[in-house]
Amino acid sequence: MRIGHGYDAHRLKPGRDCILCGVKIPYELGPDGHSDADLPAHALMDALLGAAALGDIGRLFPDSDEKYRGADSMALLSDVSSRLTIKGLTVSNADVTIVAERPKIAPYVQQMRENLAKAMDVPVDRVSVKATTEERMGFTGDGTGIAAHAVVLLNELQSE
Ligand code: MG
Repeated sequence: MRIGHGYDAHRLKPGRDCILCGVKIPYELGPDGHSDADLPAHALMDALLGAAALGDIGRLFPDSDEKYRGADSMALLSDVSSRLTIKGLTVSNADVTIVAERPKIAPYVQQMRENLAKAMDVPVDRVSVKATTEERMGFTGDGTGIAAHAVVLLNELQSE
């Protein structure tokens, strides 16, 4: 088994779509960034890549590359997942925590789990999405940004 951890944070900005784990949430602000800025998906990809020792998303999908402007992070997650499959690694489970004061995440958690599971091609019961606040402290608490953590466990297929 192999474990991986990922973290990401993005600033919230007016005029940006608020896309978290592939769900477009109605909100007057959205995470700023080069891609769709789906930061919990970014944290999850870094956790997967970390567990596989395959680098990080900054190296794989550089924000200096115009190809990734507005990129759909669910497609990038599928790409990362394929790289793991090639290495004989499968996702045992993934646990994502979104840290945000607003918007409220709870109504969208089930759809988020389904989106992530679909992108990684695993059953939805292997994917957890949770949300918490930081009690109005710091950049998530005052609404400046959103942060996310992800932890994954991979199984390594036994080679002969
Ligand atoms: Mg990011």
